[in-house]
Amino acid sequence: MGRSSKDKRDIYYRLAKEEGWRARSAFKLLQLDEEYQLFQGRCFSYVSPCPPIHQSAVPTCFYLLGVHRAVDLCAAPGSWSQVLSRKLRSSNETSEVKIVAVDLQAMAPLPGVIQIQGDITKVSTAHEIIRHFKGEPADLVVCDGAPDVTGLHDIDEYIQAQLLLAALNITTHVLRTGGTFVAKIFRGKDVTLLYSQLKIFFQEVTCAKPRSSRNSSIEAFVVCQGYSPPEGYKPNMSNPLLDHCYDVDFNQLEGPNRVIVPFLACGDLSAYDSDKTYPLQLDTGKEYNYVPPNQPPIRPPYQEACFLKKNNLLAKERPPSPVSTPPATNTSE
Ligand code: SAM
Repeated sequence: MGRSSKDKRDIYYRLAKEEGWRARSAFKLLQLDEEYQLFQGRCFSYVSPCPPIHQSAVPTCFYLLGVHRAVDLCAAPGSWSQVLSRKLRSSNETSEVKIVAVDLQAMAPLPGVIQIQGDITKVSTAHEIIRHFKGEPADLVVCDGAPDVTGLHDIDEYIQAQLLLAALNITTHVLRTGGTFVAKIFRGKDVTLLYSQLKIFFQEVTCAKPRSSRNSSIEAFVVCQGYSPPEGYKPNMSNPLLDHCYDVDFNQLEGPNRVIVPFLACGDLSAYDSDKTYPLQLDTGKEYNYVPPNQPPIRPPYQEACFLKKNNLLAKERPPSPVSTPPATNTSE
């Protein structure tokens, strides 16, 4: 295969090299921006800091706040950070712009981009990002995170979903009210659960497939606009699947941080009570008839102990050995 064959097969691969992008993924973010004007920082609602004039009849307002601070999660090799750097620094005072990029992999430096080499599922990474923003919230968080795919679709989709939830957790710490979150998503069979989780935090959630994303790929992007966490929600990283937060006492969580799954006691009240003891002859006049298990265990761990006991081979308890008393010594010499 000649060196030009990939260029022929993949127009975005070729264009990325020609335009100086580190990866063809740059076009995905650029095309998402064409559709959603991500870098204009649309304030999406009547929530603060949208001025009262915009809180009138229509719930959606298009007050432009601009994007000055952005986070790029799972950023390496850095084409999305390049897009952020070029777009934000060309339309704002460069001193006002702050971009923080995170990845497990090291990344070559980019102008105006602070890099963190870390795992987005770790609380410590979230804290490091927050520290760089010095209390000021971000206007935009993007995440193009993808696991190393195994080819086992269920596992790949599950890990991708966990990455997205980790990104959402970090987002709840740093994003301003009304801000935007964009993340890669695998449109698998359980994707509606993720949409529902995102809808808790954002007024608008849409799923977009830029033309530069191959049709044969399960990937798409959720564009979540109008960050608006439930009243009383306190950002936390307490996803028990992430970062082994076993020290979190979930019973202590309150208000919207606490999710209570409905419990339903079901079954007919006339059914046998599993906590009660019943006589063996349930039907009067009938003999008790033992029925063996349908499928006894094939090789249970207690098999050897049963064999030893049956053949009287179990270790016997020995009588205690007599306590040896030291010979008496004459101390009166
Ligand atoms: N957006 C990037 C660009 O335009 O150059 C490409 C991102 S690449 C598709 C996916 C990245 O996700 C990889 O660099 C990988 O190291 C990163 N990643 C996967 N799991 C991660 C994790 N737990 N924490 C941080 N980065 C992660």
